[in-house]
Amino acid sequence: MPSHVYLHVPFCRMKCSYCDFYSVTDLASARIEAVITGMEAELTQWSSNGLAGVVETVYFGGGTPTVITGGLVRLVRSALEHFPVRAGAEVTVEANPDSVSVQLIDALAAAGVTRVSVGVQSFNSTELAVLGRVHTVDEAKAACSAVHATGLELSIDLMCGIPGQAAASWVETLEQALRSGADHISVYPLTLEPGTALDVAVSTGLVQEPDPDIAAEQMMIAEEVFAAAGIPRYEIANYARPGHESRHNLAYWTGRPYVGIGPAAHGMLDIETARHTGMVHGPGPNVGRVRYGNPADIDEWLLGRATEIELLTRSEVLREDVMLGLRLVRGVPHGAVVAADLVDVLISLEESGLVERILNSGLPVVEEGVVPSMRWRTTRRGWLLGNEVFERVWTGE
Ligand code: SF4
Repeated sequence: MPSHVYLHVPFCRMKCSYCDFYSVTDLASARIEAVITGMEAELTQWSSNGLAGVVETVYFGGGTPTVITGGLVRLVRSALEHFPVRAGAEVTVEANPDSVSVQLIDALAAAGVTRVSVGVQSFNSTELAVLGRVHTVDEAKAACSAVHATGLELSIDLMCGIPGQAAASWVETLEQALRSGADHISVYPLTLEPGTALDVAVSTGLVQEPDPDIAAEQMMIAEEVFAAAGIPRYEIANYARPGHESRHNLAYWTGRPYVGIGPAAHGMLDIETARHTGMVHGPGPNVGRVRYGNPADIDEWLLGRATEIELLTRSEVLREDVMLGLRLVRGVPHGAVVAADLVDVLISLEESGLVERILNSGLPVVEEGVVPSMRWRTTRRGWLLGNEVFERVWTGE
């Protein structure tokens, strides 16, 4: 049975200029009630299928889960009734600063939440305006303090490569993130998604196009500043004090099955579990993994419209595991690379300076030949050119 659960809460106060995640800004109480009831029905279905056991992580993402306030507390309680967590489990809620209060954080903690991921993005008001964020810098600081004061784990999301974001401002944002007491920080480069308000503003010349080279430089600065503060990078975009890595996201990157609940939620199941749900019927013996996506439309999802199903063959599963594993700083074991028939591809990537062989100690392999404990990981260049690495591994070419 899956040990990880993701719940997608599809509501936001306003749409940020760069965002193409599925969320709506209709916060009418009847709409929110319909979605919570629908998600509770999905939870019940997993229970009645006998597939809702004790889990290790639960993650409430979105959207902005905290925007539905009391509804979120109810949803946390419902989810943890159906999927009880083992002692020491990680239960995360994504939050935006404008919808965080001490009372809400206290209520979430009482309901079983252990970790809050605050969407700060920047501690600079001009940059927040470019991103179309509704919160202020002071609200971001207050939200971090509220989480920290409650004793929950605090994670912060930051964004680099924002048009007009000067180096000094970026460093100030990084330092403020450290002052907030976060043990986990994510840094994402701003990307231009087609059809978003930012995309339109760039194409009409109102806003300068995000520069990937500047974003790459800022990512390198973040790595240095956080490492010096004892918060090293452990994944492409994620930094944590040792022991505070996101266990939920680690499950995604290590090919662990997870349940996705709510509109636009995605899940990944092993073939036996997928058969048990009735999601797939007797696919061929070569299928190794089932990915599914709920309809990205509240009404279609409420009507029970079919989920999108993707079947991965066994060889695709092996390649996917290597591809996801290369996101991690610790890399992937040589055995996984051999099993996926990717040794030649990785040697070619090594020749391009994008990956390297290391020992379990993290030191590079200096001698020719295969050491039993050898692993492969991206180099610094490969970290910044990750898409090139992942595409070659996925296609196996
Ligand atoms: S708050 Fe998050 S999910 Fe909502 S619009 Fe902004 S970026 Fe997208």
